[in-house]
Amino acid sequence: MTNADLFRNKFYPEIKKKMWNDWHWQLTHRLTGFSEIARILDLSDEEKKALEQQDAFPTAITPYYASLLNASVALRKTMLPSLKEKILSLGETNDPLGEEPCEVCEGLIHRYPDRVLFLTTQYCSAYCRYCTRSRLVGRHGDRPVTEGSKQRWENAFNYIASHREIRDVLVSGGDPLTMSDETIDYLLSRLRAIKHVEMIRVGSKVPAVLPMRITPNLMKIVRKYHPVFFSLHFTHPDEMTPETAKACERIANAGIPSGSQTVLLKGVNDDADVLKKLMHELLKVRVRPYYLFQCDPIAGSMHFRVPVAKGIDLINALRGHTSGYAVPTYAIDIPGGGGKIIINDQRCLGRDGDFLLLKNFENNVWRYPDPEI
Ligand SMILES: *Cc1c(COP(=O)(O)O)cnc(C)c1O
Repeated sequence: MTNADLFRNKFYPEIKKKMWNDWHWQLTHRLTGFSEIARILDLSDEEKKALEQQDAFPTAITPYYASLLNASVALRKTMLPSLKEKILSLGETNDPLGEEPCEVCEGLIHRYPDRVLFLTTQYCSAYCRYCTRSRLVGRHGDRPVTEGSKQRWENAFNYIASHREIRDVLVSGGDPLTMSDETIDYLLSRLRAIKHVEMIRVGSKVPAVLPMRITPNLMKIVRKYHPVFFSLHFTHPDEMTPETAKACERIANAGIPSGSQTVLLKGVNDDADVLKKLMHELLKVRVRPYYLFQCDPIAGSMHFRVPVAKGIDLINALRGHTSGYAVPTYAIDIPGGGGKIIINDQRCLGRDGDFLLLKNFENNVWRYPDPEI
């Protein structure tokens, strides 16, 4: 019996395994309110208070993901609201990335020369408390996509079709994989029909929070539109259950290369051993660590933010100490629209005549011949 089976028997005794593994059932039974959550999780007084004082950014947790939260203090912090969210700290805003000025039509962000970010839905199966787009997501009802948003997509398709420099479309949201098979098929077919779009990327947290969504039929649909890449959001090794591992393997077996994106979070994953374990678990199921992000300064997120100097230390604890494939790129998405900037420790210490002085992973300094011409 898996952890999820034990949890289901305890809290949903009337629900058969087949129903539990139906992703629609998971979505319609998300835990959103105080009483639903309190029935399942042992809440502290502070957690109770925060749940009772919720504002516009909703709480939603799939029953599957809730099955991990009694045992994982780390994951629990990412899903349950905190009273600290009410504190507004230095530089925090509702649109920290300054996406709105780069919005060329509703939901389409064109900041970089050859690629666009396409926000297709504002719905997620579970809401992360540190969400960069908490200004947008989860506020428009309980349905992934309405007819209104499909109308809106037409403008995005037209823009992409008329800008031949766009060779990479990043489909995100919200979580696009919460949409129906038919809608995903339609969306990918429209993007694939644009000749200059070389690659399509889909950003999703579904393999971690709703792994049963990765069905054979979904994989059959996606693989019609290759090359399609997945950018998957993972936070902590506690997420790597047998269900999630199977979802990632299905993705790889469908020929979809996937990378992981992790947000560095205080008290959740700001630890070298935790990060290393997460990256190793991901590689085992053929997900390549891609980005480690500094937590964006959204309003009320100070309690999650890790000093950049510590982030650099954490990356240094990986680089050279484990497979290069296990080392993600540490990046800050600069508030106000500066875009992603890669943060690296200074490895080049200067010159000694015709030699560069370089520091290796053991912090020894080496001389490398590099004469100035
Ligand atoms: C992150 C991001 C991308 C993709 O960046 P990559 O470094 O290519 O992964 C594209 N557009 C926007 C607006 C983004 O924020």
